[in-house]
Amino acid sequence: MNQSPSAPRQTKLLAADAVGIAEAAELLRAGGLVALPTETVYGLAADATSGTAVAGIYAAKERPSFNPLISHLPDLASARRQGLFDANALALAQNFWPGPLTLVVPASPGCTVSELARAGLATVALRVPAHPVAHAVLAAAGRPIAAPSANRSGRISATSAEDALADLGGRIDAVLDAGPTEVGVESTVVSCLDGAPRLLRPGGVPREAIEHVIGRPLVIAGDAGHAPISPGMLASHYAPAARVRLDAEAPQPGEAWLGFGPDGNDDHPQALNLSPSGDLREAASHLFGYLRRLDTLGPSAIAVARIPEQGLGEAINDRLRRAAAPR
Ligand code: AMP
Ligand code: MG
Repeated sequence: MNQSPSAPRQTKLLAADAVGIAEAAELLRAGGLVALPTETVYGLAADATSGTAVAGIYAAKERPSFNPLISHLPDLASARRQGLFDANALALAQNFWPGPLTLVVPASPGCTVSELARAGLATVALRVPAHPVAHAVLAAAGRPIAAPSANRSGRISATSAEDALADLGGRIDAVLDAGPTEVGVESTVVSCLDGAPRLLRPGGVPREAIEHVIGRPLVIAGDAGHAPISPGMLASHYAPAARVRLDAEAPQPGEAWLGFGPDGNDDHPQALNLSPSGDLREAASHLFGYLRRLDTLGPSAIAVARIPEQGLGEAINDRLRRAAAPR
């Protein structure tokens, strides 16, 4: 059992040649964490289909909250297996991919991106990066790769292998070094969900270029005067229908139970345990899926065991408090 958010490990510096690229892809396929170059910034990459691998990103970055992450694919064809593209999304992908544009679209029925990478949402954020090394790793990994910027939370995005190593060395498996990145700002994020494309975050592709392709002005998400909006302001955050009761000792009649650690409530008829052994990384990987499963049982409330406020527990508790907030 490994609860430490930053269990020390040897971080390899890999050259961006055939050998280094193959090793990076192999580490990702095995659930490891690799900082890799894209044309925007260095990304902290993990297998997006694995909840525990994605939890590792949050642990290494010490991110205090779970936001949906961008899944990276080698081409449009593989992106279309993960998400449903309407006419606008397709036009934008055809014009700007590979490149610094992220599209938020409805997840497809066959979407393999984990609930943790989607922060429990029914949508998925997809991008095909232009960097040849990123492309090679993605093609070899053969699965969507989640990759927020390769820096610890609150620090500036890493634009070189040295930056990534200085910030995350000892916490991740490898850094793939292809020199400094070209764009240096993050990708533009546009949602195509209801026929009205929205700008969620300005970035590497200018708004005017996007509006030229879709032939209409982009809706600016949030308060038009205040760009960029923070992910926490998105109205689309997942919340269960049931009331959520935190720091509970045991379920009351009619309540479902979301446990953590050995709590003796496993025989309750509507109980799931985020991690019987008390492993926060395992708990993070189960959080959204288990909330959803308990919610579909239609309980009077979901009672949740106390989760320690340390390491990944901070992000888990942040999400649980949002779910428990009066609506
Ligand atoms: P990062 O991966 O740190 O560069 O940030 C990802 C950005 O994409 C954040 O601004 C997220 O809020 C946004 N994003 C990712 N997935 C979604 C989604 N499903 N819905 C809305 N925004 C998303
Ligand atoms: Mg960042």
